[in-house]
Amino acid sequence: MFEPTGSQRDAPSTIYNLPDYRVINVIEDVCGVRRVEVESTDAPGCPVCGVLAVRVHSRRRQRVRDVPVAGPVELVWVKHRWFCAHARCARGTFSEVTDQVPAFARSTARLCQALVAAVIVSGRAASEVARAHGVSWWLVASMLTAAADVLLPEPSCPSPTTWA
Ligand SMILES: [Zn+2]
Repeated sequence: MFEPTGSQRDAPSTIYNLPDYRVINVIEDVCGVRRVEVESTDAPGCPVCGVLAVRVHSRRRQRVRDVPVAGPVELVWVKHRWFCAHARCARGTFSEVTDQVPAFARSTARLCQALVAAVIVSGRAASEVARAHGVSWWLVASMLTAAADVLLPEPSCPSPTTWA
């Protein structure tokens, strides 16, 4: 008798492999581009009181840039707005954020990591990496700038006595 011991995720979610998300729909357009619709797997905690949300207020679709998975993909996050479950919390509703798509982000964290790694580790030009991933050059440049801010130490200014 065969008893699976691996992941309990459904097959599309396992293949797409975006952490903290499940695939809820895939549509292929006439050009062959697949639109992958995902939703987060876990209800978030309220950003003010921390109580886990249990009731959805509304949903909206947000396009998010992501790495190509077996070809070009248009990622759409069906993003939930939640009611706070705490009766006395001042925050009535809140929108979810995840580690992969933080607040105000329009790209997944794994895309940002892939772009930076493609330039820094492989030494490819930013424009070449942008073309290969189907994103703009300025997005790659902004990811490199953000990575440099984290990786490099603060520049030390020479003291005024050493200027002369
Ligand atoms: Zn709350």
